Amino acid sequence: SIIVRTPIIAGNWKMNKNPKETTEFVNAVKDQLPESNKVESVIGAPAVDLQALLDAAKGSNLKVAAENCYFEDEGAFTGETSPKVLSEMGVDYVIIGHSERRQYFKETDEDINKKAKAIFANNMLPIICCGETLEQREAGQTNDWVSGQITNALKGLSAEQVASLVIAYEPIWAIGTGKTASSDQAQEVCQVLRETVAKLYDQTTADKVRIQYGGSVKPANVKELMGKEDIDGGLVGGASLVPDSFLELVRFN
Ligand code: PGA
Repeated sequence: SIIVRTPIIAGNWKMNKNPKETTEFVNAVKDQLPESNKVESVIGAPAVDLQALLDAAKGSNLKVAAENCYFEDEGAFTGETSPKVLSEMGVDYVIIGHSERRQYFKETDEDINKKAKAIFANNMLPIICCGETLEQREAGQTNDWVSGQITNALKGLSAEQVASLVIAYEPIWAIGTGKTASSDQAQEVCQVLRETVAKLYDQTTADKVRIQYGGSVKPANVKELMGKEDIDGGLVGGASLVPDSFLELVRFN
């Protein structure tokens, strides 16, 4: 049978841009995006920019991601972002488990699993990140490490939920370094992740889940990466900040 997974290209702006810059960016790209059923175009923005992003993106093919959220809907959690409020605002996706959040903000696999459940409970979809350090890669631990991260992140989720979410494989040594994994290296790990989902659930679920590669994706390498069997999209930092470059990425084919 022919497996059809809609490609998904998501910008991850990190802690860049203010609301005004956000509006300007969306106005520059919104009429030139592919149809959502051909390629899903997503921007992940800081919480302080989300309202501007949603307002500007209204009626366009641009979908909106938050870069983090908490796993409780409300309460005494000073400084946190409610998944319930993100959902009420109209946010589609939440990026969780990014290596920067794991490293600088001590986000654990258990937190990520709780966040994934909270995101589904609020009718949004998680983009769950995983990835190895250079040291782990050199020690031959990559495949076991990332499949362990994803196994922990998915605990207690249904097959239907897993089929609808997005996994992002982002080798830490390739993030923001200009050093992209080769398309064969990226494909190998994305295949391992799909096999992990097949083992935990079933082949149908594994065939449906979308797996992105991230780490120095840019217009010059997106097409080759996207040509690989198990790579269904990209999670893009630096190259997503400029309208023309983002448009080249989402129009890779
Ligand atoms: P980069 O970031 O594209 O700037 O390497 C990717 C990411 O961290 O998601």
